[in-house]
Parts: sequence; C-alpha cells; structure tokens
Amino acid sequence: MTKQIAILGSTGSIGRNALRVIDSLGPQYEVAALSAHSSVELLAEQARRYRPEFVAITNPDYAERLHELIGDLDIEILAGPDGLIKIAELPHVDIVLTAVVGAAGLHAVLAAAKKGKRLAIANKEPLVIAGELLRKTTEDSGSVILPVDSEHSAVFQAMQSGGREQVNKIILTASGGPFRQADPEDLRNVTLEQALAHPVWDMGPKITIDSATMMNKAFEIIEARWLFDIPVEKIEVLIHPESIIHSIVEFVDGSMIAQLGEPDMCLPIQYALTYPERVAGIAKALRLEDIGTLTFEKSNLQTFRALSLGYEVAQTGGTAPVVFNAANETAVEEFLAGRIKFVNIVEIIENCLNRHNVKPAVCLEDVLEADAWARREVTELAYSV
Ligand code: MG
Repeated sequence: MTKQIAILGSTGSIGRNALRVIDSLGPQYEVAALSAHSSVELLAEQARRYRPEFVAITNPDYAERLHELIGDLDIEILAGPDGLIKIAELPHVDIVLTAVVGAAGLHAVLAAAKKGKRLAIANKEPLVIAGELLRKTTEDSGSVILPVDSEHSAVFQAMQSGGREQVNKIILTASGGPFRQADPEDLRNVTLEQALAHPVWDMGPKITIDSATMMNKAFEIIEARWLFDIPVEKIEVLIHPESIIHSIVEFVDGSMIAQLGEPDMCLPIQYALTYPERVAGIAKALRLEDIGTLTFEKSNLQTFRALSLGYEVAQTGGTAPVVFNAANETAVEEFLAGRIKFVNIVEIIENCLNRHNVKPAVCLEDVLEADAWARREVTELAYSV
C-alpha cells in the first residue's frame, strides 16, 4: 500500500527537504497534494515533476499564473486560503506534512486532525498556540502527531523506550544561539547583524532571531507540554552548543535516552513519514570520532528572560501562548525593520503578556481573537520604546 502525502508549504525549506526525502523513499510514498503561498514558479515546477492530483496557491493573485504554467496537466488547481483546508481533508491522503505559518495553516491542521490523518508538524504555531485544542481533537479522532521539530522528534524517538508514566524528565537541548555566554548587559548593544549570525543552524531571519532571544526554546517548552502531555515542571532546557544530541528523555530508573544526529532536518522529516519503521535515507550518518567532544551548560535564565516566560506561559495555558507567539512575531518584525532594539523584543512580549486577560482557548475563534489583540498591542508598545 502506498502512502499518500499532502505537503502544506512545499516551496519553503522544510517542503523542499520533504520532497528530497520522498524521492529517496521510493514508490511507496506518493505526493498527493502540494501548496505554496506565492512561490508560483517553484510550485509549478514541483507539480510538473510530482504530478499530484491537487495544488493549492493560497495567495489568489498567483492563480492565473499557475494556470498558465500547469494548465496542460491533469491537476486540480485551488486558489485562496481554503485550498489548504481542502487538501488537508482529502479522503485518500494518509499524511499531512505542514510547514505553513499563520491562521490558514492552523485551520488546515485542525481539519486534518479531525479527519484522523497522521500529522507531521514542522512549524511551531499549531502546537504553541493551539496545543490544547489540537490535543483534544486528535484524542477524539485517533489522529497521530509526529513532530518534525528536531528536539521533539528526538523526544518522540526516545519515548519509544518506555511508557509515558515512566518519564521523569524531558530535557530539550539548545545550542544557546550567538549570545549564549552573554551577560544581560551585553544584550543591550546587540546589532541586527550579530543577531542574524547563528553558529550552527542556517535558517530564515525570523527563526534565527527567535534562536538568539531563545524564544524558540521557550516555544519548544510549550510544544513539548502539549505534544507529550507532560507537566511543565518535568521539562528542562540544557545548553548543548554542538547541537548533536537533539534531546533526551530521562526515565524513572535514571536511564537517559538521547537521540543524536547531524543537524539536518531530513532525518526528523523522514521519521515522521516512515514511523514506526526506520529506513535507510539521505541523512548523513554521524561520525562521533570526528566530533570528539560534546559539551553541556546550564541554561542561563538571567540573560534569557524568554525562557522563564516560556515556562510561565506553558503553565498558564489558555490564550497566554497565543499572545506569546503573536507578540513575538510582531516584535521580531519591528526589530528586523530597525524600529526597536534587540532587548526590546522580549521586554515588549512581557509587557504584552502582563496586559493580557487570559481566557480559555476552546475554539479557533478564541485563538484568532487573542492573536489579533496581541499584534495590535505590540505595534503600539513598539512606538513607545
Ligand atoms: Mg527546534
């Protein structure tokens, strides 16, 4: 039996890597649907190569161009944000791999969860801002979530060696970013250029800044809380600058099970597609003798206020994580545009959280309302720094 895969966000870095992984897996894995927001030329190229039954272009302005490019093929073209939901719900699709930011992506993830699909989730938003909602939905439908975030994939893999009730701790590793050894004072003078230079991972500007502030790790605490249904007190962050151990699970008997690998997203993508099987793939095997030394440090909660906030927000739940995420997105935009300083990012997020009246996040509307509120609030706060 072939596995039919829908890729939401096929032209971004995760999507392109997913297609490379699918190529290497052979004919058992088929591309059933692809989507992009506006990278219409690349989407057309991918469609011509993989011949899915559906392609969705979420920005309708590009629909005409897409028709020009692939109108000769027997492929149904969907335009606008609803196209994502349609492909996430296709009856013959087994796995929905999602790497799409924003509200349209969230609708589609929930739709796929309701239909009981396997969800391979690569972007953080679904679990950060709708973790509780998503968890409930998957429990009702029998849908399974396979994390593609490298740390959570590592935890998921380590979890295979014991029961959930036997877990003592989840230890999320963090490279620590470019300012890992900085004092709180040093962060005052950080430039955009310094913040964009990540020592290990090569990523887009938004996520590179998230890694410099350690907001990225704060989100991962929240993700882990929902994904593994584990109390926040059992989640730890450990600085591991080499980024070879992707995370660790400590069991009640004192055993620590870790997953190691090259920093390469192809491995977590492949595992999410082939689980519970393991198959030979394109990820390069690790040679520990070439690496030599692995080092660890306690995470620095003094310098990285974002981490403490992450714990608080994960504990509070409701709309707090929604505000945390939206406030960060807007604050990072302000920083990238040169309107605020690096230190202001987390200060503004904290201010915004303090002004927020936390409510339960029972449905998508609650989520979207809190999201919109936080974005307005941060834009205002950014003016006054
Ligand atoms: Mg990660």
